[in-house]
Amino acid sequence: MKNTDTHGSIIPSNSYKEPAPITDKENPFESMMERFDHAAKILGLDQGIYNYLKNPVKQIITSIPIIMDHGGIEVFEGYRVIHNDILGPSKGGIRYAPDVNLDEMKALAAWMTWKCSIVGIPFGGAKGGIKCDPSKMSKGEIERMTRRFTSNMLDVFGPDKDIPAPDMNTNEQTMAWIMDTYSMHTKRTEKAVVTGKPSILGGSLGRREATGRGVMIVSVSALNKLSINPKNAIAVIQGFGNVGSVSASLLHEQGVRIIGLSDINGAIYNKNGFNIPEVLEHVEKNGSLKNYPKADEISNEELLELNCDLLVPAAKEDQITSHNAHKLKCRIIAEGANGPTSANADNILQEKGILVIPDILANAGGVTVSYFEWVQDRMGYFWTLPLVNERLERMMDEAFINVYKSAEQYNVTLRIGAYILAIDKVAKTLKIRGIYA
Ligand code: GLU
Repeated sequence: MKNTDTHGSIIPSNSYKEPAPITDKENPFESMMERFDHAAKILGLDQGIYNYLKNPVKQIITSIPIIMDHGGIEVFEGYRVIHNDILGPSKGGIRYAPDVNLDEMKALAAWMTWKCSIVGIPFGGAKGGIKCDPSKMSKGEIERMTRRFTSNMLDVFGPDKDIPAPDMNTNEQTMAWIMDTYSMHTKRTEKAVVTGKPSILGGSLGRREATGRGVMIVSVSALNKLSINPKNAIAVIQGFGNVGSVSASLLHEQGVRIIGLSDINGAIYNKNGFNIPEVLEHVEKNGSLKNYPKADEISNEELLELNCDLLVPAAKEDQITSHNAHKLKCRIIAEGANGPTSANADNILQEKGILVIPDILANAGGVTVSYFEWVQDRMGYFWTLPLVNERLERMMDEAFINVYKSAEQYNVTLRIGAYILAIDKVAKTLKIRGIYA
């Protein structure tokens, strides 16, 4: 899809470029819109509200010039899309990757709006990123790029306006640089401007593990719904980054047998189940799952098609598409990544009777603990890890129940049930706030 939609945008004319084509076959924004349309139709959403919620509030593309280590200047393209701020300040991660583009940001920002609405936290949705290859940059270059991006975004970011967090290829250090740069400009330490910070700077305990913990919580709920005892369950996990590795670890602790794993270098299989602490040790030492001794190497396609109870796609977008959905042999999919299933795979999965816990529910644990972090920063009073985990579990359980009820009420999939729930709340809030003119 060619992007010509610049509704409400602040796009400097000298930096505008056509978004790069998305390498996967399906466009995440179109995938998001297809589900949104489906849910909006069932809800009988008013046309004006439909138009309001379809369009991001703000889309920013900014040029980021950096002096590289070799002494020359390179200019990167940075994005921040604020999809909606009706429920509260907008919230969402910042990613660094070569294929970052506006359409992807728009989809991810909208997903954040729906995610926050489902788990019941007072935030809107946003997403940002920089088109770059951090694996080819030095730490100093990444720091300069992060700080310049933050300074370009000074009037956008803010604890009551728009609050970034880590996402693909960004981490606690990135958040520390954003917080510091913002604080230098406002002349006071502003902890609540980002979440996912190091705990020494006001980060919440349990934030790093929160997305994976949320995936584990909803996976166990889904296994229970299908009367599968987690101790007898078999799982496959695609992706071994922050989300995949923590999901693997916590599912392993629940007694789930994990027979397939993958990372960027390939996939591995062990029919007896991996000893996850041992795998983590191997990754710690070698930087990757590659050459893990007690496993057979398989392809990514084979991994997704393994016979199992639970498949957790926790890598990237558009992994389950109309090309491979009919070959899956799992009973439950818990979407750890954002948008791992394209819209035209939905029907195939439904026909196959696979229970899909949609991304906007399954990976909402991260933003939930981000909310806890923001609350703690503003109170200046910090919670213990058991308290964080207990509150996370309560909110994820409640969200799972609500989504399940919504799906039953409208006789739709959990995904459409989740969209209905999310859109309904934002639409009702918008109606009561009214349109300022
Ligand atoms: N990047 C994470 C997500 O996609 C977390 C966002 C946040 O905590 O604000 O949900």
